[in-house]
Amino acid sequence: MKVCTVWGNLNSEKSGENYPTDLFCEECIQSMNPDTEDSSIVNYQDDDDSYGDTCSKCGKTREEEIEESQ
Ligand SMILES: [Zn+2]
Repeated sequence: MKVCTVWGNLNSEKSGENYPTDLFCEECIQSMNPDTEDSSIVNYQDDDDSYGDTCSKCGKTREEEIEESQ
């Protein structure tokens, strides 16, 4: 899990909607082509409890991800 800032709705007047920051699991991060030019991720940082424990894209929990990686 990582906390990612992604491209959101750039037409919105709320900055939180322009570049929403949310928690994503590794699988979803990989599907957004991190570190490439056409990535939908602006930047990312290490996991942070304040964003909860559920991937905002697919709904996978931190616990499920740990189980999968074992
Ligand atoms: Zn996910």
